[in-house]
Amino acid sequence: MAGIVVVFDFDKTIIDVDSDNWVVDELGATDLFNQLLPTMPWNSLMDRMMEELHAQGKTIENIAGVLKRVPIHPRIVPAIKSAHALGCDLMVVSDANLFFIETILNHLGLRDYFSEINTNPSFVNEEGRLRISPYHDFHSSPHGCPLCPPNMCKGLILERIQASVSMEGKKKFIYLGDGSGDFCPSLKLKEGDYLMPRKNFPLWNLICQNSMHTIKAEIHEWSDGEELEQILLQLINTVAMEEEKNKSTSAQLFSVDCMYSMSAHEAFPQALPVPH
Ligand SMILES: [Mg+2]
Ligand SMILES: [Zn+2]
Repeated sequence: MAGIVVVFDFDKTIIDVDSDNWVVDELGATDLFNQLLPTMPWNSLMDRMMEELHAQGKTIENIAGVLKRVPIHPRIVPAIKSAHALGCDLMVVSDANLFFIETILNHLGLRDYFSEINTNPSFVNEEGRLRISPYHDFHSSPHGCPLCPPNMCKGLILERIQASVSMEGKKKFIYLGDGSGDFCPSLKLKEGDYLMPRKNFPLWNLICQNSMHTIKAEIHEWSDGEELEQILLQLINTVAMEEEKNKSTSAQLFSVDCMYSMSAHEAFPQALPVPH
């Protein structure tokens, strides 16, 4: 069963905090961060903060150490492993940076479960300082999307993914996110896709405020890792059942056992009770 692409935001979706804030706060640079935030874009500020931390003698190992104790809900890792085991293609689309994300995913033993990590590039320079650059170069080639920050339009990234997987046949997307940066890609999802916004977070608020009718995907909200796991796996099972049904219908056959093993009651709560 390989008809599903699951796209995860990273901060406050896979992990329970914002990795940028986590590193800045844990290394004691919160005041400087808040002071500089009004003066430059977030992504440029993170590069600047890495310069400041390096000047204060904080090493790349210090940063990695802080990342390895980032808070994560205990059901997130099993949810990702189950989705992968069910044959889904998993990807990350995040406005954090590659070093932060790979350090955390490697630490959790999850890196190989993701076929793509789309995020701001980063590297450790010859002085041992982490450099962070924008995903889109907003000086030479601005992305032009009014919804998104200058360094990254997640909608453009999702369109690129949609175009690349469409060559492998019809795929359904499940997109999970929390932030206002996840709104643009939510608008690019198609009918038959699923959107999983985190309840009471900016993406969910944006959807509630004005745009329920502009989102073509079916919306399923979640609050924590436990709900994320439960809803994600239920949606994957629903798609799997539909695929199975389509196959069976064409063969003029239905397996009742199969329908029930896929927890048909949960997937279709509107189903009529069977008379005794
Ligand atoms: Mg996020
Ligand atoms: Zn955009």
